[in-house]
Amino acid sequence: MPYHKFDVVIVGSGGAGLMAAMQLSHKYSVAVVSKLYPTRSHTGAAQGGVAAALGNQEEDHWQWHMFDTVKGGDYLVDQDAAEVLAREAIDAIYDLEHWGLPFNRTADGKIDQRRFGGHTRNFGEGPVMRSCYAADRTGHMILQTMFQQSVKNQVQFFNEFLATDLIITGGRASGVVAYSIRDGDVHTFSAKAVVFATGGYGRAWRITSNALACTGDGMSIAYRSGIPLEDMEFYQFHPTGIYHVGVLLSEAARGEGAYLLNNEGERFMMRYTPSLQELAPRDIVSRSIVQEIREGRGIDGQDYVYLDIRHLGAEKIREKLPDITDFARTYLRIEPITDPVPIQPTAHYAMGGIPTNIDGQVILDEKNTPLPGFYAAGEAACVSVHGANRLGTNSLVDLIVFGRRAGKHIAKMLDSGELDYAELPANADERTKQMISRIRAGSGEHAETIREEMRDVMTEMCGVMRTEDKLQQCGAKIAELQARYQNISIMDKSSSFNTEMMEAIELGYVLDCAEATVESAAARKESRGGHFREDYPTRDDKQFLSHTLAYRKDDGGVKELRYKPVVITEFQPKERKY
Ligand SMILES: Cc1cc2nc3c(=O)[nH]c(=O)nc-3n(C[C@H](O)[C@H](O)[C@H](O)COP(=O)(O)OP(=O)(O)OC[C@H]3O[C@@H](n4cnc5c(N)ncnc54)[C@H](O)[C@@H]3O)c2cc1C
Repeated sequence: MPYHKFDVVIVGSGGAGLMAAMQLSHKYSVAVVSKLYPTRSHTGAAQGGVAAALGNQEEDHWQWHMFDTVKGGDYLVDQDAAEVLAREAIDAIYDLEHWGLPFNRTADGKIDQRRFGGHTRNFGEGPVMRSCYAADRTGHMILQTMFQQSVKNQVQFFNEFLATDLIITGGRASGVVAYSIRDGDVHTFSAKAVVFATGGYGRAWRITSNALACTGDGMSIAYRSGIPLEDMEFYQFHPTGIYHVGVLLSEAARGEGAYLLNNEGERFMMRYTPSLQELAPRDIVSRSIVQEIREGRGIDGQDYVYLDIRHLGAEKIREKLPDITDFARTYLRIEPITDPVPIQPTAHYAMGGIPTNIDGQVILDEKNTPLPGFYAAGEAACVSVHGANRLGTNSLVDLIVFGRRAGKHIAKMLDSGELDYAELPANADERTKQMISRIRAGSGEHAETIREEMRDVMTEMCGVMRTEDKLQQCGAKIAELQARYQNISIMDKSSSFNTEMMEAIELGYVLDCAEATVESAAARKESRGGHFREDYPTRDDKQFLSHTLAYRKDDGGVKELRYKPVVITEFQPKERKY
């Protein structure tokens, strides 16, 4: 049985995983286990930028950034975490700059910054330039820069290894089990600390901006290990996905001045949010688009509207938005310099995830009890800095700030000897082996049928607009799919690069995430941020100013929902007006 021993094992090589690795590898042995080659992680697809109140273009302060984050998240944000995010963003950006990240520059050589939705000056007065960027491929540059630094710093990579289990012994995390995609072997990793930085689960929906690999693996593995999932009902639909395809056209386009138009050629956002217009937070813009379509103002009566960048001029478009204009050409055969681009909301980002405190330690309950040795960071985690709705460019900064904090906290615990190896049980890999045998021996449907039905029902019943009735139907359907999944079958029984096996395992993960999302959404009878209930259209702070924690039954299904108070320090909840 292949066995490895490292001080720290990090699952995931996106921005969050690599940032954590960088804090540790100079002193401790660090393994990064990733189902993808590191530079293919979804972080590489991030386009628009990374927020930090550097004030390079105009006056800005971290307190303003903190306020915008709290208000943008519809006051469900834990404000101690938002303070850390906004304060430490500045230093974290300079770390990236010093590691060689090629940011766009101002005329006097500083990091250039641009506008993004919901980021404002002086506590909401008007838009501010806060997003640091490298053209419209900021995430790509972050990933390349950190991967090079990690290689230089002796981080050991286990690429194309699919993590399948978390080992918990004596009440603490002590390792990880992973399936080697190359040869089908099951490997056991013993570690003093484990970090999950496994990204989001946009693949639960049909129209999504997320890469194929975004199947919520880490969230599901944690959930199956008795750890709750926090705030899963808050899933973000980004307003501007390419029509039918879902591929993202970054908010950077609107940051640079693009308009949204309905079938009357009207800039309809002027009616919904007069002060920020197209740069209102994403939940509001997505709902406004759906409203326009419902009222018959979609283009040609269809379910899309236009994103119009023509007035920016060819030169600015080529310089500032090269990649996304190429996407429009590739996927729609439309030339954005001369024609408006059809767009619709697309499933984009999980505000919820594995609950952690501000040091990245995973917590087990509403009393914030940590599970020693277990950490999570990035989109897989819920700190919670995004509350009910994340602002654009606030995810990349979440990765680098909280990836860094998790890494530093582990280093501190290792330095003081508070974390150590545990004796692993002889059968640590048993659950994984059983899962693989069950899938190999299954005689039921193939993954594809179940996956397609899941994506349809999630899109129709658990999307931008929700109702009791739709969520009940959706919950019943997901439960049915979970039952059918137990007997799933594959045609390819081989061991080497068996992607059918991998996809079957991933389907189980994403179904778990869908299940927790729907059940949490059904129980939240209010509207807040990305969770909009047509039957409860207002926010209800009396009953629901709290985080949801969804626990799983041992044999599947949600066992119980618990609630945890929101941390409020500076900003009392107010009505969110823009
Ligand atoms: C198209 C797009 C554009 C975006 N643009 C922006 C932007 O401009 N600004 C912004 O702030 N945010 C943006 N976001 C959001 C942001 O990019 C993501 O939230 C963030 O990159 C997630 O990073 P991560 O490190 O948490 O995970 P990811 O980068 O998704 O990496 C996940 C890692 O986990 C590994 N992994 C997953 N499961 C397993 C498993 N079972 N076993 C082993 N390894 C596993 C994968 O191999 C991968 O390395 C964008 C997102 C998308 C989809």
